[in-house]
Amino acid sequence: MPNSRSSDLFDRAQKILVGGVDSPVRAFRAVGGQPLVIDRAAGSRLIDADGREYIDYVCSWGALILGHAQPDVVSAIADQARLGTSYGMTSPLEIELGERIARAIPSIERIRFVSSGTEATMSAIRAARAFTKRDLILKFEGGYHGHADSFLAEAGSGLATLGISSSPGVPEALARLTLNAPYNDAAAVERVFAEHAGKIAAIIVEPVAANMGVVPPAPGFLESLRKITQRDGAILIFDEVITGFRLTYGGAQSLFKIHPDMTVLGKIIGGGLPVAAYGGRREIMELIAPLGPVYQAGTLSGNPLAMRAGLAMLTKLEAPGFYPELDKKARNLAEGLRTALREFGVPGQVNASGSLLTLFFSAEPVRDYSGAKKSDTARFAAFFREMLAQGVLLPPSQFEALFVSAAHTDDDISRTLAAARASLKAISAPK
Ligand SMILES: *Cc1c(COP(=O)(O)O)cnc(C)c1O
Repeated sequence: MPNSRSSDLFDRAQKILVGGVDSPVRAFRAVGGQPLVIDRAAGSRLIDADGREYIDYVCSWGALILGHAQPDVVSAIADQARLGTSYGMTSPLEIELGERIARAIPSIERIRFVSSGTEATMSAIRAARAFTKRDLILKFEGGYHGHADSFLAEAGSGLATLGISSSPGVPEALARLTLNAPYNDAAAVERVFAEHAGKIAAIIVEPVAANMGVVPPAPGFLESLRKITQRDGAILIFDEVITGFRLTYGGAQSLFKIHPDMTVLGKIIGGGLPVAAYGGRREIMELIAPLGPVYQAGTLSGNPLAMRAGLAMLTKLEAPGFYPELDKKARNLAEGLRTALREFGVPGQVNASGSLLTLFFSAEPVRDYSGAKKSDTARFAAFFREMLAQGVLLPPSQFEALFVSAAHTDDDISRTLAAARASLKAISAPK
């Protein structure tokens, strides 16, 4: 789109923001084409700097489960702004949101609010290391836990998208403390624990992997992690930054009935404002300052605007029938995509869990990161561009989840499926 306002703005952006963006996947590197520059958003729609409207399945990377500018959330924020935007002291709002979260997720006996998921995961492993007096952590290939140094080996999300398997700038001595195992492979986890018995502080896992594309846990996998950590005295950390309040109100742990020692939350709990949290067993959390010596602090932590947004968000999610209705839309979308793949003879897998889904352009079922990486990413890129041209924004990477929100209407889903059929037809047509 030469000479459009979007392309002028993005040219300007590239002269000041690194790569024109403040987070790498926004740059569309894996899919090509002009990255979007957005002026405003409402409900299921993003509107770009040229007034073009897109049905949005990124939804701020999962934070906006109610869609954009949901009226209750907006008025909570506006109302709070008049009462002050940051107090630098405890407010009743943090207490209220903390209590609401702990009621939904009973494994959280104590909680600490922070401002990003990265901060929360980083702080959670610090607490786990202090509690166990061990240094090693185990994560899974293709798992993403934010961009703290300890998590950048074989990570998902933007690193998977850009093909970065380990990041320069992470000291080798620190990188050696992070172990990786294939997701859904309990036997591999057993082997890692046998090799490093009594030395692993924690397993950190996305209970439903959503940063290598969506990969649900195989039956028994999460149970094995619980058993192995319990036996070895390691801490089990569920990174529910995406799945918390997404799969059900109580997150993946309530769905799969597993009680982790610690939980990390983010995205949804801030209602679209920068909030995350970590919490868990009282004796672990009470090691954190001011009760204990494990230091962690934040100028804007528990920010009142964000707490109000989170409270307004959770109130909507508590409505009876909220999750079944949301999941039904996602199921219709997933089913429609599977049908369209068959219709046009395009090899593909639609992995789904609740309102999360990914269409992998792969002939084989995707159960882990090595499976996800077998996808035809060039085909994904072509599909992405066709969909965008028809007004549907998918996450701009094969290795990201598509997020359905409550703002997506049945009509949005039908239009999306019509666009998907046209796009699959276009990319499968002989050249
Ligand atoms: C997004 C995400 C993070 C990081 O959160 P930020 O707020 O982007 O720092 C951590 N873990 C998971 C599972 C995520 O999806």
